[in-house]
Amino acid sequence: MTVQFKKKTLGRGIEWCDETRNPIGGCVHGCQWLMPDGTIAECYAENLAEHGVAKAGYPHGFEHHYWRPKELKNLGAGKTPRIIFSGSMSDMYAHAVPPEQVRAVLDAMRGAPHHSYLTLTKAAPQLLKYTDRMPPNLWVGVSSPPDWFLGKRLSRQQQIAMLRKSMEVLTEIKKRTGNIVWLSAEPLSWDVTNVIGDDHPLDWCVIGAASNGKKYYQPEVGDVANLLRVMDESRTPVFFKGNLNPLINENASLGRWREDFPLCYRDGSQIPAVVERQKRCDALGWTRISLPLV
Ligand code: SF4
Repeated sequence: MTVQFKKKTLGRGIEWCDETRNPIGGCVHGCQWLMPDGTIAECYAENLAEHGVAKAGYPHGFEHHYWRPKELKNLGAGKTPRIIFSGSMSDMYAHAVPPEQVRAVLDAMRGAPHHSYLTLTKAAPQLLKYTDRMPPNLWVGVSSPPDWFLGKRLSRQQQIAMLRKSMEVLTEIKKRTGNIVWLSAEPLSWDVTNVIGDDHPLDWCVIGAASNGKKYYQPEVGDVANLLRVMDESRTPVFFKGNLNPLINENASLGRWREDFPLCYRDGSQIPAVVERQKRCDALGWTRISLPLV
């Protein structure tokens, strides 16, 4: 379990969640991104596991699969509702992950309905295998396609096809389960609006810049503006990653800084972890959720 906000440094880590909890580790997807200056960024989790602070937990390298029963036990810990990203060091829906482990994780999430659990995948079609086990407090997310995946360079057409498939899968999940579905457009490196379309299924969208280590590369203003227009027209909340700050500051046309979340589950009930988040925003001076909580 890693708490994202560090009181000592005021660092916020992955700003859109309160904690990461990872019963599953390692990933074979080998994602890479081409940066505007020609450098290639590798998966952040892979870097942490092979060269950074997480090295001790990945003795066989990042491509190895790790199952951590102790972390599974901790998945539901704590009485205060939290927004928990489960999968910051893996893609838990990847083919290499045994289905019984995915089901065990989903069951553990169901056992702690006061928390919200967020997952992301680049293997969206795999999600459909688990719709019968998805608990209502799971926010099912997909990531925008990388430039390299499973060792292959993806063309723009392949990226478009991958994102389109992800949207189809999320539409189907919403139909089957009613779960919150979301997109992490980080980095937003091309105009995704035509693929997402006006009738997209998304309940939430996170937008971020491209990064390679400590270097950031801002998206095109027009690409952000187009995505915001589609989200606003569908009244879909948007969360800006902190690394987008320079772009938003320098372009008044993009409007206010946003750290919005979905507020309710499909049955209309408030999301306890989001209510709690609003209290933290007030206490810590973070941007408040701008939508009314009721
Ligand atoms: S799917 Fe996620 S964890 Fe796996 S390599 Fe890609 S970015 Fe890293």
